[in-house]
Amino acid sequence: MNENKNIIKLEDIGFSDFFKKNLELSNDDSRTPARVISEHKKMYILKNEVSEFSAKITGKMIYEASSREDYPAVGDWVLITNLDKEQAVIHEILPRKTILKRKAVGKPDIQVIASNIDVVFIVESPDRDYSLNRFERYISLTKAEKIKPIIILNKIDLISKSDLQTKVSEIEDRFKDIIIYSTSTVTKMGIVNLEKEIKKRLTYCFIGSSGVGKSSIINTVIGRNLNKTGEISTSSNRGKHVTTHRELFVLENGGLLIDNPGMREVGLADSDTGIKDTYIEIRDLSENCKFSNCTHVHEPGCAVLKAIESGELDNDKYENYMKLVKENEHNTLTKPGKREKDRRFGKFINQAKKQPKNLK
Ligand code: GDP
Ligand code: ZN
Repeated sequence: MNENKNIIKLEDIGFSDFFKKNLELSNDDSRTPARVISEHKKMYILKNEVSEFSAKITGKMIYEASSREDYPAVGDWVLITNLDKEQAVIHEILPRKTILKRKAVGKPDIQVIASNIDVVFIVESPDRDYSLNRFERYISLTKAEKIKPIIILNKIDLISKSDLQTKVSEIEDRFKDIIIYSTSTVTKMGIVNLEKEIKKRLTYCFIGSSGVGKSSIINTVIGRNLNKTGEISTSSNRGKHVTTHRELFVLENGGLLIDNPGMREVGLADSDTGIKDTYIEIRDLSENCKFSNCTHVHEPGCAVLKAIESGELDNDKYENYMKLVKENEHNTLTKPGKREKDRRFGKFINQAKKQPKNLK
């Protein structure tokens, strides 16, 4: 294996105080931290300040794992011991700062797409199922994990200037405090501005429907900014060279970018808080519902329904909210646990009502 001549620090690949603190709590200093930069069938590629390694998890971890979340994901910080210069063993996952997951279509499992992401770029394009509700859904998902969402409107070469202006102000009206970039990978319009948004030592990813141009944007940004000195080719212990398949890239300006196949389509799961966050309006209204466990569907004395009638609350917003709540329940719940979770969801809503608006 070629060792990296440019010395990097763990901080340069995202090792922040959050992880340092947890490392100090770990009682075994023979184990050192490394970041997962790709994952394929429980084989991992890790990166630390020295090099890149291929790694497997211990039998103990496999034995103790009860769900997908107990396995490492791209972006994770893990504690390892080295077998040799190229291979390592993963003993534990350091607590995650954030985690991006989705419900796979037709599968019962929650999939972990990536972890420890600071900023998510939510991409839509005018030629693909463009909708504000879709933005809303992704924003919910992102905020539920305390990840910062930023909107990208891509393929702006396909629309007129005035159409673009209309769309941007629509987005601004609906999502008050979210940054918006408009880009075209064809004309490269807006790309430089987007690149300026990407900051050193922070981890970014792109989500959105397929065909909106995520790969094109990523390839454009990486193509222009990949830190070539950060590239290391890994050889297997049989001496065969394998080009490492990376899913976490270090850009020249120090930003960290995750691109993996799981990013392509993201559904909702475990996003109650995010839903509530996006729909503060409904949450506030529901304080005046007659019943504390009101579902705002048919109950007498429902303040939400009343607000729709009076026009105070937008019906589209309400319907999207109900769709999200339903979808989220469906994705989060398994049948045996449903009753209990229903109870907890109700309790959550009640708590949310009592709490001041500090969930962000
Ligand atoms: P992904 O599925 O979101 O990763 O989308 P891709 O990056 O694969 O792009 C889907 C299609 O849109 C491809 O044919 C791209 O060439 C095209 N595309 C991507 N960005 C732009 C853009 O800014 N303008 C136009 N006109 N086409 C684009
Ligand atoms: Zn109600």
